[in-house]
This record gives sequence, C-alpha cells and structure tokens, in this order.
Amino acid sequence: MDWVERVGNLRQWAQNGARAPHKPLLMLYALGWFQRSPLRPMRYSEIEHDLSELLEDYGPTHRTSPSYPFHHLVNDGVWEVRTDSGAASPGTGVRVLRESGARGQLAGGLRAALSDDPALLGQLAQVLLDRHFPPSVHPDLTAAVGLDLEPADGTRIVVGQAPGRRRAGELRRDVLIAYEYRCAFCGFDGSIGRVPVGLEAAHVRWWAFQGPDDLANCLCLCSLHHKLFDRGVLGLDSGRRITVSREFVGQSQAARQHVLELTGRALIGPQNGSARVAPAHITWHTAQVFRGEPRIAEQHGPAERHGLTERERHGVTKQHGRVPEQHGVTEQQGSTA
Ligand SMILES: [Zn+2]
Repeated sequence: MDWVERVGNLRQWAQNGARAPHKPLLMLYALGWFQRSPLRPMRYSEIEHDLSELLEDYGPTHRTSPSYPFHHLVNDGVWEVRTDSGAASPGTGVRVLRESGARGQLAGGLRAALSDDPALLGQLAQVLLDRHFPPSVHPDLTAAVGLDLEPADGTRIVVGQAPGRRRAGELRRDVLIAYEYRCAFCGFDGSIGRVPVGLEAAHVRWWAFQGPDDLANCLCLCSLHHKLFDRGVLGLDSGRRITVSREFVGQSQAARQHVLELTGRALIGPQNGSARVAPAHITWHTAQVFRGEPRIAEQHGPAERHGLTERERHGVTKQHGRVPEQHGVTEQQGSTA
C-alpha cells in the first residue's frame, strides 16, 4: 500500500478549482492526534468543536459541518469509524454521530505503517499541505492541528519538481522585476545589501489549484501582505483595487496603517509591458480564499471637506465598491461526497 499516494489523492466533492479541504483538514488533525496519542480513537463529540474551528479558519468560505469529513473519509480507506455498539459510521447526522458515541481513527493498516516508519507521518502531512494549501499557510496550519514536523521525526521531505512547474527562483525573479522590487500592496522595498528582503512572489490562484506560474497569476508582495492575501484578509476587486475583509479586526495604528487603510487602493505596478493579474484568477481568489465581505473604504478628506452626510458618503463609496460575487460551492454540493 502506498499511503502517500492514497492520502495525496483523497476524493474531493468539489471540482473546477473549488477548494474542498474538509478531508485533508481532518487527515491533518488525525495525524496530529496520532502523533500525541497513537492508541486513542477520537470521539466525534470530543473533536467536533476543534474540527469546526479548523473548517472555519482554513476551509472555504461556505460553512460545512465537521460531520461530513468525519463520515465520508471512511470511503478513502485511510480512516475508520465505530460506534459504541461496534457498528460502522452511522452517517453524517450530527446528532446520531454524537449519540452513538461514534469514534474515528486512522485505518489500522495506516497506523501500523506509521508505527513501522517514523518518517511516514511527516511525508503524509507534507503531501496534504502541498496539495491543498499555499506554503505561507503551512506553519499556522500545522500548529493549529498540533502537528510537530521538526526534523527529529525524519519528516520534512523534499517534494520533487512537478512536471511543467517553473523553477521557483526564476519565477520569483521575474515577478520582483515586473513589480520593480516593491510590494504591490504597500510599496515596501527593503533590501539588505543588494539583496531584496521580505519580498515574495505570491500566487493569486494557488498553484495547488491549477494556478499557473506566470506573471498574470502572480504579485510581488511583502511577507506580511503575502500571508494576509493567502489567508483571505486581503483580496482584489475586478478593477484590481485592494479589498480588505470585514472579518479582519485590528485596533492598533500598525493594523490600520498596514491593513485597513489599503481598502480601495490601486495595485502598485507592474511596470509597463508586464502582464497584469488576469481577472479569472482574481475571481478564483475572491470565491475560494477571500473571507466574507469586503470593507467599504472610509472617506477622509474630500467627502468630509465637502460636508457630505454619512449616508451620502456611503452612497458615493458604494457606487465604486465591488458587487460581492457568488461563492463557488453550495452547501448542497458539499453534502454529496
Ligand atoms: Zn506590503
């Protein structure tokens, strides 16, 4: 049994680039649990809260019950569920999962393989992370599921270059040049000596979701804005203006300056002659990554100086605001794994 291949190819209920990381998130959680307590199964009622939070924090924008992956992951042969009476998984009903005492754990063969090969756990975690999340999110996510992937476990594996994938260094260089070594959101342009520092090439449509390695799908962003863009705090509207999620909260001056005040700003760059980010990739990011609704820009200066009322100011900004788009996958689709 090639467990890496099997875990890397969990059956997804969503297609056409829609994110459906429910099973991968449960798998990562189960690997973290196994690392701490290899012998103890997870009672549904005991992990329901954790799993809900994981889905909310790292899943797509539509809500899904943790009961779906808990039940459906059984079909992938990597997970098993038993009730108090020894029966198989009773289905996706939350109440019946709780009341039957349903307990899940990694499949017996997989547990045996993990015990035999100390490097396997890290390999499985890495393939799940690489196939479903961009690198900037990996450290937060491993911490959230309680996975310790330090080399002591023989874990972090080097994943071979995927076919058709441009070399990361080459892409980064092209992106940084196109944006003239500045963050497209804030203009940050730090360097140490002659070497740019804290600047990264960010994919708009994630590479794991068929996002191409080219300028029409990349932005040069500073480390902070790259992280916030991949976590859906920041996005772009159809006019390539910066959007900020209403769910983001920050009271400090730094949070205002580095995040809230970006609302409605135009991208900086790229220089003339370089491809701009393609609308189709922005649409994907808006539907699959951006969290909730965008904020409406606060009007300082001109509107206030002209003595507009609060209502008039909002009327003005709404005309220029973007119309929220439909999110990709419906709850209906989410339930038909
Ligand atoms: Zn920046």
